[in-house]
Amino acid sequence: MDRVMFLECPEYMDKHGAARCGLPAAVEYRYTVSSTDGPLESAKIRCPRGHCFNGPLESLTWEKDSSAAASAERSIRPQGAGRRSDR
Ligand SMILES: [Zn+2]
Repeated sequence: MDRVMFLECPEYMDKHGAARCGLPAAVEYRYTVSSTDGPLESAKIRCPRGHCFNGPLESLTWEKDSSAAASAERSIRPQGAGRRSDR
């Protein structure tokens, strides 16, 4: 594999988990581990700030669009908990 891949560094930059490092972390190598659900693609990545991660790709990738704050708020209020129309 001669193509260097980059992932955005998933390291949290504050204690609240709202900000991520986000720098392009170089994938040093990729490998596959077998799990009960089948082969799991994993990688070792290192970002320019020195953050280093080693694990399944899906745990290393994150979506910028859905901010951590929004997803946290969603988990605080489960569906159907607030009865707005029923007073
Ligand atoms: Zn980083």
